[in-house]
Amino acid sequence: MTDLSTSTTSSSPRVAVVTGGARGIGLAIGRWFLAHGYSVALLDIDGATLDQAVAELAQPAKLLGLHCDVSKPSQIESAAKAVVERFGRVDALVNNAGVAVFKPALQTSFEEWRTVLGTNLDGAFLCTQAFGALMVERGSGAVVNIASISGLRASTLRVAYGTSKAALIHLTKQHAVELGNAGVRVNVIAPGPVETEMAKLVHSVAIRSDYYDTIPLGRYGTPEEMANAVGFLCSDGASFINGQVLAVDGGFDAAGVGLP
Ligand code: NAD
Repeated sequence: MTDLSTSTTSSSPRVAVVTGGARGIGLAIGRWFLAHGYSVALLDIDGATLDQAVAELAQPAKLLGLHCDVSKPSQIESAAKAVVERFGRVDALVNNAGVAVFKPALQTSFEEWRTVLGTNLDGAFLCTQAFGALMVERGSGAVVNIASISGLRASTLRVAYGTSKAALIHLTKQHAVELGNAGVRVNVIAPGPVETEMAKLVHSVAIRSDYYDTIPLGRYGTPEEMANAVGFLCSDGASFINGQVLAVDGGFDAAGVGLP
């Protein structure tokens, strides 16, 4: 049986921090942690959607919503302080906040490139520094980064997005090696397409139909399926898994076909 244990040696419950937690995959990950006994801090740049999510989750004793842009070091420092003040510890960090620009390489502006890299890569670097330090202090914890199959395969339209996710996969391995020495595991999932607001924004009709044709399971994944994988990687059942890339993609990577 998979050990999704959330037991702790101290009396306080485990604490998870999820970036980009106001909606989509991040919100599903937040729900998973709440359902498995964690206290949860959701960080998001979109304060209104975050407030709505926190109200809907209706778990005031175990949930903290923090308005935070993960590409801004000072905002992450404030968020880390707020999490420690409220919950006193951090056991899991999920670097999920992300943005996508799908455009031909030569038409992608430097500003778009910087926005995508700033959120998807700088954000994970900065959050792992701030929250990872708290885990290293305690000698235990787990970080899971949310990359993409676009980080495994090069394709058209994803010069910024795909590069940010490929770099995030390598950042995961760097952190796994260094933080692993301190008892903190760092892994990454590479989701296939998932039905969220982001997919609505960047998946054209042609991209969607190509995904249906190239994914062996023949469908998009759900946010909950991503959350199950993340939850497992943070749990005691994954206690010897470190520095790994888990494609949660309906078999797309195994099939070895090109990205649409
Ligand atoms: P989404 O757009 O629905 O949610 C992303 C969340 O991140 C939003 O709440 C947004 O406000 C927040 N965010 C954006 N920039 C931020 C910043 N600078 N600081 C803090 N929060 C910020 O997207 P989603 O589909 O749920 O994507 C979640 C993650 O999964 C992303 O990293 C994305 O790249 C990855 N992913 C998504 C898909 C997909 O098909 N949806 C596939 C592979 C990977």
